[in-house]
This record gives sequence, C-alpha cells and structure tokens, in this order.
Amino acid sequence: MHKKSRQEIKLMKMAGNIVALVHQEMKKVIEPGISTLELDKIAYDIIKKNKAVPTFLGYGGFPNTICTSVNEQVVHGIPSKDVILKEGDIVSIDVGATFRGLVGDSAWSYAVGKVSKDIEHLMEVTQKALFAGIEQMIPDTPLENVSAAIEDEAIKGKVGIVREYGGHGVGYEMHENPFLYNYRTGSKTIIKENCAIAIEPMLNLGCDEVHTLADGWTVVTDDKKPSAHFEHTVIATPEGPLITTTLP
Ligand code: MG
Ligand code: MG
Repeated sequence: MHKKSRQEIKLMKMAGNIVALVHQEMKKVIEPGISTLELDKIAYDIIKKNKAVPTFLGYGGFPNTICTSVNEQVVHGIPSKDVILKEGDIVSIDVGATFRGLVGDSAWSYAVGKVSKDIEHLMEVTQKALFAGIEQMIPDTPLENVSAAIEDEAIKGKVGIVREYGGHGVGYEMHENPFLYNYRTGSKTIIKENCAIAIEPMLNLGCDEVHTLADGWTVVTDDKKPSAHFEHTVIATPEGPLITTTLP
C-alpha cells in the first residue's frame, strides 16, 4: 500500500478529473439507439484531448478504452458497434485514465431510458454500498471496515455480491495491492495514511455467481439477472476520504 506524496495526490486528482469528465459525458449521451462502440470513441477522445492515456487500452490485451457491461454483464464487457443500447437496459461503464503516470479508475451504472423498479433498486443499493465503503477509508483503521460496509448495504438491499472481483490499490499501476473484498473475509489489513484504493462494489439482482464468456473478457451473472457496478478512486487522507474521480 503505497503512501502518496502531495504531488502524487495532485496528479491522481487530475487523472481522476479526466475520468469524471468521461462519466459526465456518458451521462449525457447514453440513450436508446447508441452503440457501446460509439461510447468508447467518445471516451477515447476526451481522454486524449486532456493529454492522458486510456489506461484500459491494451491492458492485458483489452481492446478498448472503456468496459461496457450491459444487463447481466457484470464487468469487462467489450464495446461493439453491434451492441445497441435499448430502453430499459442498465449499462455499466468502467474507465481509467493515466495522467503523468498516475491512474484514476471509476465505474458507473447508467439507466438507458426508463428501467424497471428492480433495476432502479439495484442501482440505488450499489451506489449506497459504494459511498458506505468510501466513508470507511480512514487512515489506521481496518480495510475490512470498507468491505463490511459494502456487504451490509448489499444484505440490507437483498442483492447478490460478486465474490471473484473487487477493489484494489491504485497509483502508478491500475491494480496494486491490496485487493479489497466486497464482503467480510477476516482481513487484518490496515489502511495506511494517504494510500489510494479503488472501491468498487459489483452487486447482482439475483445470485452471487458469475462466469466469463468465451471472448475471455465479459463477466456475466450465472442466472442472467442484471448487475450494477459503481466505483471511485479514493485516498485515505488524515482529513477524511478524498475521492479523486470527481469534477473539481
Ligand atoms: Mg474500474
Ligand atoms: Mg477498478
């Protein structure tokens, strides 16, 4: 868990701002009829215009700038001209930007037009879980508190918790130690002052279980019920949790 200097925190905020700009635009343009590849192009252009590098592009061979995961897709969905969003879909957009070496990583789930009450509920619970987790990003306290806060919101909302994926340290690399579970594991890890962690609950309307499709990337729920994903990059400062992936 790398302790960030003041300069590194500043750069992480700049990287995070660019990621937030992408999400600001996604919120505007996501509507029935747009393809996930069009969304990818928009994200790429924003990141490039702001002199940053799309962190995901080429990461482990990932072919695009953003992950676009629709409905039962949980994470790592690949943008395609053939995936046209339609009324009632939920689409999770995950995006990373690297600015002068430092990474911002944030995901958000968007309703396409009007969604069902069930999906509305899932989105609300997952967002609540994210912010409950963020509140626990306090230096010198157990990282398990973040996991517990997320798990408690999921249980209260009666939704499934994806077990195989979770949050992570972030800095010069997108994925650094420690791994952050979205449920209690008995971890003894302590949050260090000024460390950065991407907190990212992935919650499902149905079961916890997920699997990866034949494309080697797209993770889907076993029961094909919708999934939601909300993520912010957060620094545990002495003054409290600092979310880097927002607009100033
Ligand atoms: Mg992410
Ligand atoms: Mg992440």
